[in-house]
Amino acid sequence: MHPSGMPCLVWAIWVNCADMRLAFLLLAFNSTAALCCGAPPAFEQETAAARRAGLRVLAGEHLTLVTDRPVREGDGLDDLTPLFDEAFATWCDHFGIDAARQRDWRAFGCLMIDRERFRAAGLLPTDGRIPEFKNGFCDRDRFWLMDQSNPDYRRHLLLHEGVHAFTLTIRAADAPPWYTEGIAELLATHRLDRTDGRPRFVLTPIPRQASDVEQLGRIERLRSLREARAAPSLADVFATPPTAHADLGAYAASWAAVALLSLHPAHAGIFAAVEQGALDAGFTRRLEATAGWDGPRAGRDFDAFIDDLDYGYDFSRSAIDWSPGRPLTGPQAITVAGDRGWQNSGWSLATGERHSLTATGRITVGQASAGHDASPPLMLQSEADGISLRWYRGRPLGRLLAAQWVANPPDGGRPRFVVLAEGAAGKFTAITDGPLYLKINEPPGELADNTGALAVTLQ
Ligand SMILES: [Zn+2]
Repeated sequence: MHPSGMPCLVWAIWVNCADMRLAFLLLAFNSTAALCCGAPPAFEQETAAARRAGLRVLAGEHLTLVTDRPVREGDGLDDLTPLFDEAFATWCDHFGIDAARQRDWRAFGCLMIDRERFRAAGLLPTDGRIPEFKNGFCDRDRFWLMDQSNPDYRRHLLLHEGVHAFTLTIRAADAPPWYTEGIAELLATHRLDRTDGRPRFVLTPIPRQASDVEQLGRIERLRSLREARAAPSLADVFATPPTAHADLGAYAASWAAVALLSLHPAHAGIFAAVEQGALDAGFTRRLEATAGWDGPRAGRDFDAFIDDLDYGYDFSRSAIDWSPGRPLTGPQAITVAGDRGWQNSGWSLATGERHSLTATGRITVGQASAGHDASPPLMLQSEADGISLRWYRGRPLGRLLAAQWVANPPDGGRPRFVVLAEGAAGKFTAITDGPLYLKINEPPGELADNTGALAVTLQ
């Protein structure tokens, strides 16, 4: 399973119906045994077999991890099981499950350099039940992953498989691939908080910065798909076939869909309610049939999310108001907040109309170090033309941008915002019927520390 591009096939899913029924029975048996009868799977035989084979055994509350990786100072391996336990609590939270009632839940993971050693020890089935996988594979409460040179990526992969084990057993998940892989990606994404001795797991469904998730590459992949005018629609993601998850783009898009539906204020409530129901093959259909679900809007929100996606993206600042607006009949004054993404001006333009805008005012777009530890940081201030100190997406930071949402961009690709004017003064022609949107040019993850607003006159 995994993001850097390799098939993560969840056992029991996407096989034929007979296998699925068998898998479901096994799941039910396993869950019952594990969760209801006070007989948690201790994996004693497996652990003994691992010890006999000279493998290292790391045991936490919810994970027994076996590895042939040699002990290396500072490799972070000892942190993996405590981090898994912390992650487990956040997974319970996500699904509204009482973690105390799952205290006996346990998974068995193999972190492998040489998979032959695990086969020889009887820890990796050789009967063809487990396909050849590149990075990782999960079979109910057992998973295997190949060791990774990057500790961030190794941890992510371990947790990704852990989410599969969690949803396959506790939630008997058999949902369409976009959800299965998307939720595994979403609930595995994290940063480490190192302020208090040993590192702590902090769930960051949308990573704050690239250095928190080295080698993950999802945001970069979606950016390159967008630039190539090849980004998928939400409907494309919902229709992702299981075989597509051999590609990083499919993981990235599945993650983005689940992130949007879990975090966007217009969709999160409905999505959470649907997630409380069965995670079965009818999951997407049930979502689309739920009262209050607005499919066209979700599709548009997905396109807008992919269009602006970057580290630290925050729906509370960047969700789009799609109101149609009133026809513009004369000069209007508009306030553009410095700390939000695209803002609906409230005024609708008609295709071919000529308009002009002027902007005044000053916003604070962040801080710069003064160069001396004792000095207070310099507040970076910008007017509507922006500051040339730093550029973002080809334009100066802090620059005022005016755009319309275009359903069929002339140069192809998915619907997106097309910038029509920028800076302190400009003239432009509306290219579609619809509202004018305005924002300050800055990475979406850096809006939170901005203050101030620009005063724009549109006529
Ligand atoms: Zn996976």
